[in-house]
Amino acid sequence: MESKELRKMGIKKKSESVRVVIRCRPLSKKEVAEGREKVVNMDYANGEILVQKSVDEVPKRFTFDCVYDENTLQKDIFDETAFPIIENILEGYNGTIFAYGQTGTGKTHTMAGVLDSDEHKGITPRAFETIFKSINIDETKQYLVRASYLEIYKEEVLDLLNKGGVQKLELKEKPGSGVYVKDLSTALVETPEKLMEIMVRGNKNRHVGQTKMNHESSRSHSIFTVTIECGEVGADGKAHIKVGKLNMVDLAGSEKQSKTQAEGVRLEEAIKINLSLTTLCHVISSLVDGKSQYVPYRDSKLTRLLQDSLGGNTKTVMIANIGPADYNMDETLSTLRYASRAKHIQNKPRINEDPKDAMLREFQEEIQRLREQLEMA
Ligand code: ADP
Ligand code: MG
Repeated sequence: MESKELRKMGIKKKSESVRVVIRCRPLSKKEVAEGREKVVNMDYANGEILVQKSVDEVPKRFTFDCVYDENTLQKDIFDETAFPIIENILEGYNGTIFAYGQTGTGKTHTMAGVLDSDEHKGITPRAFETIFKSINIDETKQYLVRASYLEIYKEEVLDLLNKGGVQKLELKEKPGSGVYVKDLSTALVETPEKLMEIMVRGNKNRHVGQTKMNHESSRSHSIFTVTIECGEVGADGKAHIKVGKLNMVDLAGSEKQSKTQAEGVRLEEAIKINLSLTTLCHVISSLVDGKSQYVPYRDSKLTRLLQDSLGGNTKTVMIANIGPADYNMDETLSTLRYASRAKHIQNKPRINEDPKDAMLREFQEEIQRLREQLEMA
C-alpha cells in the first residue's frame, strides 16, 4: 500500500524508535589481577547507568530501554531483546539486531557466544532455534528459510558462503526494494542445525580471509541474514505471501584506530577500516538532528546495507557493549553517548506483503481502531 494513498485516507503508518540496550561485561581475570576498579553501575529496574571514577565525582547518568550488568545470562538477553524481533520477522517484518562497542567488550559473545554451549550460546544460534520452533508449530502456513553471511572489511563486501572461496561483491540498488548485494550466495535451510553449519562454515571463511589479508574480526563487520518467506492460503482461496528478514550484525570495534596505526597499518587502510563506523555515526547524527534531509547512507558499505535498519522499514535493536573498568572509561562514555543518540532514530516498520493484502489489512485495523474509539466514547 502506497503511504501517500494511506495518508490521503487519514491512515498514518506508525513509527517507532530504535530500541537501545546496554550490556556490560564482567571484569576480566587480567583486569582483576591488575586491580582495576569498576566505574560502571547499573540499575536494571530504571534502565539507568551511572559512570563514576571516584565517589566524590558527580556520576554521569544515562537511561536506556534496558541495561544488563555482568551477571546477565545469555538466555535473558535473548528473551528480552531478540525474541520480540524474531516474532515480528515471522509476521513479515524486517528486523536488525546489532552489537556495537569497543573491542573486547562482548559483541561477539553477545551475538554468537559459545556456539556449542547451551548456557553460553549467543543470540544468533538461539534465533536459529526459535525460528524453526515457531515455524514447525504452525502447520497452516508454509515457510521458506534462506541464509546469507557476509563481511565488510576495508570497505569491501566479502561473501562468506561462496563455495569457491571468499569473494568481493558489489552493492546494487533496485527501485522499490532498496540496496542488495549482487551475487551474494544464499542457502536454503530446513533445520536450525543447517543454519548453524552455515554459520560455522562462514566463520571458517572469515578465518581464511583473516590470514590471507591479515585482519582481525575486531576490524571487520559481519552480517548474518535469515530471510523467511511465509505463504498462507487466505479465506479467498488464494495464496498470500509475507517476507521477513532478520539481520544479525557484529560490528568492528568502535575504539579509535590510533592503536592500529601504531602497529604499522598505513593511514589509508586505517581510514577505510573506520569509514563504515564513522559514517554510521554521521548517519545517526543526521537522522537524530533532523537539520538536513540528507542522510549520508551512501558514504559507506555498512550504512548502505543497514539503510533500512536506520530510519527505514525495520524493527531495530542496538546492543551497545561496554567494559566496566576504569581504564576504559573514555571509550565507555563514548559508546554510551553514541547509544543515547541512537535511541532517537525513528523507523517505520511495515509487513512486507502484497500491496493489496496490505491495504485490506490496514483498513481492517483502522475499522477496529475506530470501533474501539466509539465503544470508549
Ligand atoms: P568483542 O567481540 O566486543 O571484541 P568478545 O565478545 O570477543 O568482544 O569478548 C571479549 C572477551 O570477554 C571474550 O573472552 C569473552 O568470552 C569475554 N566476555 C565478553 N562478554 C562477556 C560476558 N557477558 N560474560 C563473560 N565473559 C564475557
Ligand atoms: Mg568480536
